[in-house]
Amino acid sequence: MPELPEVETTRKGLAPHLTGRTPTKAVVRQTRLRWPVDAEALNRWCGTPITALQRRSKWLVLENATGFVLIHLGMSGSLRILPADTLALKHDHIDLLLDDGRLLRYTDPRRFGAWLSGSGDWRQHPRLRNLGPEPLSDGFSPNHLAEHCLKSRRAIKTLIMDSRVVVGVGNIYANEALFLAGIHPARPANSLEERDIIRLHEAIRAVLARAIEAGGTTLQDFTRPDGQPGYFAQKLHVYGREEHPCHTCGTAIERITLGQRGTFFCPECQPL
Ligand SMILES: [Zn+2]
Repeated sequence: MPELPEVETTRKGLAPHLTGRTPTKAVVRQTRLRWPVDAEALNRWCGTPITALQRRSKWLVLENATGFVLIHLGMSGSLRILPADTLALKHDHIDLLLDDGRLLRYTDPRRFGAWLSGSGDWRQHPRLRNLGPEPLSDGFSPNHLAEHCLKSRRAIKTLIMDSRVVVGVGNIYANEALFLAGIHPARPANSLEERDIIRLHEAIRAVLARAIEAGGTTLQDFTRPDGQPGYFAQKLHVYGREEHPCHTCGTAIERITLGQRGTFFCPECQPL
């Protein structure tokens, strides 16, 4: 599933191909994504140059003078820039034709993604307005994290994965950040001390920054016609490493389930 770093990498890869281009037409072959796709509204949005491709949480935002299109990749969505005459296959649900003889193609086998259009300030869109701060922005401070921890007895891992607290901390990154911070994932959030919160805040930022950096250095060709752009792998300390030795102390990594998500930790480095 594309996580925040993959979405940011997608944004960086696509932005130079889209900014300044005018979408001429939207071809919608499948309207049944996570929410119904309004093909008419998408076509009304066309005809004016794209001014920016932005990102908020895991949403991509295409903007022009008349409004915006929010795109979510869901579980299996991907975007590519292709020549306009490229044959569409089974899961190629939406094409945005561009004025340079190419198109932006949306492919999504599981159809959990979304294309939503609107006008006005996209930050106030119902899907976006209640989101917490971006993890690498100033809005996500140790104080902000501490405020949420203080008033919650939820497991700290569940808390940092709550998009109202901070966006983009998916399961992999939550597991890895807690390992780096030396904090057991099941600890009640309000049991964390100030120094734990500072370490965890740093670890969340480090894990996500590293993943975004890895995405930038992994060669991703968004104009490749075959298959999907490859998402990048990074070195993981705990996620998916049940029974393997901890990279720090050699103890076997353990797996539990927390909030219905696979949770991995080193019982030695992350005492409860
Ligand atoms: Zn360890």
